[in-house]
Amino acid sequence: MTVQTLSLLDAAARVDSAKALFVDWDGCLAAGNDLLPGARRFLATYGGKVHIMSNNSTRLPQDLCAFLDRRGIHIPVNRIFLAGHCAITQARTRYSKVFLLGNQQMHAFAHGIGLTLTAETPDAVILLRDTTLTYDKLTTAVNLVAAGVPLLVANPDRTHPGQNSVLTPETGALLAAITACLPKGTPKLEVIGKPHGLLFDLALAKCRARPDEVVMIGDSPDTDIQGARTAGLQSILVDRNSEVSINSITEMAAPLVGGQALA
Ligand SMILES: [Mg+2]
Repeated sequence: MTVQTLSLLDAAARVDSAKALFVDWDGCLAAGNDLLPGARRFLATYGGKVHIMSNNSTRLPQDLCAFLDRRGIHIPVNRIFLAGHCAITQARTRYSKVFLLGNQQMHAFAHGIGLTLTAETPDAVILLRDTTLTYDKLTTAVNLVAAGVPLLVANPDRTHPGQNSVLTPETGALLAAITACLPKGTPKLEVIGKPHGLLFDLALAKCRARPDEVVMIGDSPDTDIQGARTAGLQSILVDRNSEVSINSITEMAAPLVGGQALA
């Protein structure tokens, strides 16, 4: 995908004038369990209009909220949109029994909101970044999907950058393992996260801004920028090692600039 290259000045001006900011998490604000340089000051400066929008499928919004609170930054939990959490809550509106590939915390969350977790005739397979994926679980998922059970996938990303830029296999890598076992076109597949529209729709409804008043900031052309484009948002592609990063945008900000407070 072709991405227009913005100067740092234009990027900072775009951030200042936006009514709301949708900001990616991994590789943008954080890597592994650390905030990236400039992220704390960025959130202190613009936090009033920041909505965090991530394809993360191993954590819940309250986890990121608590992570930021411990660092003295408050972003309300209802302004954090995570693909895994969203995949489970969407599944709850449609299905009662699901086969869930995900970590223990996401299993507990799904069970807690009333989903029955089972491999026996489930209504759907939900695929999150399952860091405990086994050959047996893969076999079960493949055979359910081959038999026509719908597959709901948190995100299509194959990797995300971890600490020290270590490549971390993502949900899309597990999806590739499932689809590799199936004839082409077999899965009844639905992807929840960016670049698809659901997280954008939810965040737009929350901030009550028109799409053209919102800027998406992210480090992935294929998910963040493509998703923003489809949803009609402005966007800024950042790279922690290039001219336009969260750190450099923050350094351009006037010291007293504050985000417009949104409920
Ligand atoms: Mg990212």
